[in-house]
Amino acid sequence: MERMADGVERLSRRVGPTINAYLVGDVLVDAARRQDARPFLRQLEGRDLSLVALTHAHPDHQGAADAICTARGVPLACHADDVDAMEGRRRLTSGTSLPARFVTRAWSGPPRTVDRVLREGDEVAGFTVLHAPGHSPGEIVLFRERDRVAICGDVVRNVSYLTGRARLAEPPGVFNTDSAQNRDAIRRLADLRPAVVLPGHGPAYEDPEGLARFADGLV
Ligand SMILES: [Zn+2]
Ligand SMILES: [Zn+2]
Repeated sequence: MERMADGVERLSRRVGPTINAYLVGDVLVDAARRQDARPFLRQLEGRDLSLVALTHAHPDHQGAADAICTARGVPLACHADDVDAMEGRRRLTSGTSLPARFVTRAWSGPPRTVDRVLREGDEVAGFTVLHAPGHSPGEIVLFRERDRVAICGDVVRNVSYLTGRARLAEPPGVFNTDSAQNRDAIRRLADLRPAVVLPGHGPAYEDPEGLARFADGLV
């Protein structure tokens, strides 16, 4: 695991695509793909764990949630508007496009009952829950005011899927429920002037003014 901010570590991945999960105190934020359950459980051995919280219920974030909750006997949390997806009553990705169907088949974990339903203003491991829909109806940003750290799920990514290099970008449109609404979420994130953005994909982004310019450039 790699330290990203005070009390925040990123779980390590040796192979596969860039998909981040963070241990925030004793809360696991996001659970990558179902294939990641075993390596994640190994990294969490000997560490306190009280909750698995999802930024949103997409296959590359909820995949190992059921396995980790079951193995460690901890509850699962996600935003109210993604509970139906996590519990198997709605498709895990919004579209029926080829890439959406592919990632769902290849990476998704089984449905699981959501034990703690998150809403705007709730607190998770010292972070405040901000509802930031658009990529997914129940997408959230976790923000900690005291050092301005934001864990932003897929509101923005910091990786180019073409080159693999760090680059701020919107999530691919085929995975969004509403790309215009997600741009509002990006602007809301930028308005927080986060010192550190920890995205679901790609390395940390530590330039609040750069993020503001990126948000201003969206139409
Ligand atoms: Zn996503
Ligand atoms: Zn993702």
